[in-house]
Amino acid sequence: MKIHIIKSPELSPELFTKTVELLSAVQGAISFSFNKDSVLNFDEDEILEHTFDDVEAFEKSLYHVPCYSPSENDITFPHTHPQATWTTLFAKCASYRQQQRIPDDEFVILLTDMANDKNWFASLDEHMPYNGFIHTDGWSHYIDCPAQFPIAYEVIALLLQKYMFSGMYDLRTSVHKTPVGCVNDMCIKKREIILKLRTADICRSCMDRIKDVVPAPVIHHALQIMESLRVKMLYAQNFRQDSPLSTLMITQHHKLLLPEFGHIEIKLRPLEKALYYLFLDHPEGIFLSSLSDYRQDLYSIYSRLSNMGMLQEMKGRIDDMTNALNNSASEKISRIKRVFEEALGHELAKNYYICGQVGEVKKIGLPREKMIDQRKAVVEKSK
Ligand SMILES: [Zn+2]
Repeated sequence: MKIHIIKSPELSPELFTKTVELLSAVQGAISFSFNKDSVLNFDEDEILEHTFDDVEAFEKSLYHVPCYSPSENDITFPHTHPQATWTTLFAKCASYRQQQRIPDDEFVILLTDMANDKNWFASLDEHMPYNGFIHTDGWSHYIDCPAQFPIAYEVIALLLQKYMFSGMYDLRTSVHKTPVGCVNDMCIKKREIILKLRTADICRSCMDRIKDVVPAPVIHHALQIMESLRVKMLYAQNFRQDSPLSTLMITQHHKLLLPEFGHIEIKLRPLEKALYYLFLDHPEGIFLSSLSDYRQDLYSIYSRLSNMGMLQEMKGRIDDMTNALNNSASEKISRIKRVFEEALGHELAKNYYICGQVGEVKKIGLPREKMIDQRKAVVEKSK
């Protein structure tokens, strides 16, 4: 089973990448293909300006649909926003399918910030149910959770819906109007999707609908992805801040993983990772002002990490970073902190990132017995 995920140009590459990372974190029977260069422009005549005169007209347009997007609170009337028709959105999927010669039984899902004429959050094409779109804009207004979580979840929900329902009529009449904690709960409000994300489940009657039409490994993989979203979301939302610390694992291929936190992966850029490794190697801490004393160490860490660029260029980057006169190291430390906080929540993250007041020694507080370093095992074995 294959899902091709494509984007329209207004969607930020960062959000696209984060969604991709969540979906591909768990391996299994569903395979994903992501094309960030699949930029599908909207022509001028494909964009409609839709105006709601007052709140009543606005709400009336929303109540009969499973999921809607615009906020009730921060809109002033008359309210106008650009939108595209469903026909336009599905035509984008169809033309991409044709262009790339994608078989009829593989999904093409368009992620787009463009609103749609029916105000749905996500839908499949009734006439070609392997095409679908997900509206990616505006999540931050509704839920206290990064947008990539509901978007990734909805990719899986669309896949399951394809097999659960025989058409739009079936879908409209069969979704759970009273939430039961199932992938098919109707979300009257965007924020209600959080409930589904927290249960990460398919109820018995919905499972009965798919168990004979979808291969078991696909159902299993879908549930595993939903479960991994659920766990990661809890940390990202600052829940579970009093959890016992997870070990920090550095794999042979230099992935930073937190196995006891649902295998969350911490993604750092090569230079940031080199700096982070240096601090891991020095539990006693390092003053930023003396970072240039560690240049040789950094050269060797970085050269093992990165096969990009020439030696001289690489040294140049390290020299820049260790130059006490510029801000480069501080900026990298701030970004490392942000990456950990986004993944783990503020409290828990403190144990893993590089801490220390301005002018004081900086260090990583994590007790080093909580570290599993598979790089060393490989080096020792090869000796
Ligand atoms: Zn259900």
